[in-house]
Amino acid sequence: MERVCPICKETKDISEFRKNKYTKHGYDYKCKICKYNYNVEYVFKNRDIVLESIRYIINLIKILVIREVENGIRITQREIK
Ligand SMILES: [Zn+2]
Repeated sequence: MERVCPICKETKDISEFRKNKYTKHGYDYKCKICKYNYNVEYVFKNRDIVLESIRYIINLIKILVIREVENGIRITQREIK
C-alpha cells in the first residue's frame, strides 16, 4: 500500500507513515520525515513557549522534591524524639 504525502508530494510506502487512530485511513497525513521536520520547526518557532513550559515543569518538580525532603526530615525528627 502506498500513499502520497501532501507536504513533500512523494509517493511512499505506508510504513513511512505513522499510525494515527484519529484519521479515516488510520495513518498520519504527513510522512514520518515531514512530521519530524514539522515538529522541529514547531519547537524552533515556539522555542520561547517550549522553554517556558520546560522551566515551569522543572520548577514544579523542584517544589515537589523540596516538599518530599521536608516531609522526610519531619518524619526523621519525629522518630528521633
Ligand atoms: Zn513527506
